[in-house]
Amino acid sequence: MRYFSIRSLFTGAMFSLWLLVACSTDPVSAPEAQAPPRAGAQVGSSEQTVTLKRAQYLMGTIAEITAVAAHEAMAQEAVTAGFLEIRRLEQLLSTWIETSELSQVNRAAGRERVPVSPETFELLTRAVEMGELTGGAFDITVGPAVRLWKVTEGQRAPSAMELAIAAQYVDYRLIQLDSKNRTVFLSKPGMQIDVGGIGKGYAAERAAAAMQGAGAGGGLVAIAGDFRPFGRRADGTAWPVGLQHPRKRDAVLATLDASDEAVSTSGDYERFFFQNGVRYHHILNPRTLMPARLCQSVTIVAPDATTADALATGVFVMGPVPGLALVERLKLGAVVVDAKGRVTVSSRLRSRVHAAPN
Ligand code: ADP
Ligand code: MG
Repeated sequence: MRYFSIRSLFTGAMFSLWLLVACSTDPVSAPEAQAPPRAGAQVGSSEQTVTLKRAQYLMGTIAEITAVAAHEAMAQEAVTAGFLEIRRLEQLLSTWIETSELSQVNRAAGRERVPVSPETFELLTRAVEMGELTGGAFDITVGPAVRLWKVTEGQRAPSAMELAIAAQYVDYRLIQLDSKNRTVFLSKPGMQIDVGGIGKGYAAERAAAAMQGAGAGGGLVAIAGDFRPFGRRADGTAWPVGLQHPRKRDAVLATLDASDEAVSTSGDYERFFFQNGVRYHHILNPRTLMPARLCQSVTIVAPDATTADALATGVFVMGPVPGLALVERLKLGAVVVDAKGRVTVSSRLRSRVHAAPN
C-alpha cells in the first residue's frame, strides 16, 4: 500500500512529530532516487517528468510539498513557489505573529475597522460562510476560549467561570466584513479571531495554485491533516492519501486516491491532554466552549481545501448525524469516526475509500 500521511503531535512542552510516508516504490521516495539537490529534498524522475518533494516547518506544523514537472528546475521552482505562498499567508494570518493582519484585527476589537489584504478578507469571508453553513459549529471567534484551554501548554481545564466570561465574545455574527472598503471590524472589545480551523486549508489551496502557476503539472500540498493534490503523479495515477487512525498512533484507518480536490482531517488526537481520565482536545464546541465530544475524527473531501478544512472542524463539532446530513446536502464526501470508533462513509465516497488492513 502506498499512501501519504502527515501529522504533528503536541504534548505539553514536549513537541514530537512524525512523518509517515509509505511509498517505497514511488519515485518520490525511492532509495535509489538521485542525490538530493539540497538538504531535505528528494528527487525522482520518470520518462518525461521529475518528481520533487520537500518539507518545511510552517504554520506550527510540518508542511510537505511534492511537485511533478517537466524538468527539475521547474519542479524546484514550483515547490519553492508553494512554500513561499504558505509563508506569506502565515505572516498575514498567524495570531502568534504580533504584526500579522489578524493580530491587528484582534487588537482593534471593539475600537476600529482594520483594512486588510484581499487574501485575509477572502479567508474571513469564507470562514463566516462556513459558520453559517454549519449553524455556528464552525466559529472562528472561539479565540478567547482557545487561549483559555491552551491545550498544548496549560494541560488543565479552565473553570466554568472562565468559560462563561469567554462565551460573551464568541459569535461569528459579530464579525463585520465591509467588502467595499475591504475592512474587518470585531464589534465587541475582547473578541479574538482564531483561524486554526481553516487557515491551513486556505494556505494549501493557495500554495497548490502557486505551484500550478510555476508550471507544475501535478503536485501535493500537505499541511498537517490538510491535503491538496492536483494533477497526476509521474506515473499518471492519482495521489493516494492515508487517513490517520484516530486511536492507533502509527496506523492508517483508510486510504483514498485523490486529485484536483482536497482531503482534510480533524481529530481529537492532534492536540490533547487527559485530566481525571477525560480527554481534552483542541476542537471546541462554540456553544459550550468545551471540547466537542461526538467524534474521534472527521475527514472531508471537497473541491477546495478551504472548505475541506473548515468543514472537517465544523462537522466534528456537529457530530455524525447532522454532520453527515450536511455533507450529503452539499454533495461532498466525508469519513466520520464517531465517539465509539464506528466509521461512516458518506454516499459519494463509498466506492473510493478503502479500509486499511490493520
Ligand atoms: P488542526 O489544527 O489540528 O488541523 P482543525 O482544522 O480541526 O485541526 O482546527 C482546530 C483549530 O481550530 C483549533 O486549534 C482552534 O485554533 C480552532 N478551533 C477550535 N474549535 C473551533 C471551532 N468550533 N470552529 C472554528 N475553529 C475552531
Ligand atoms: Mg479544520
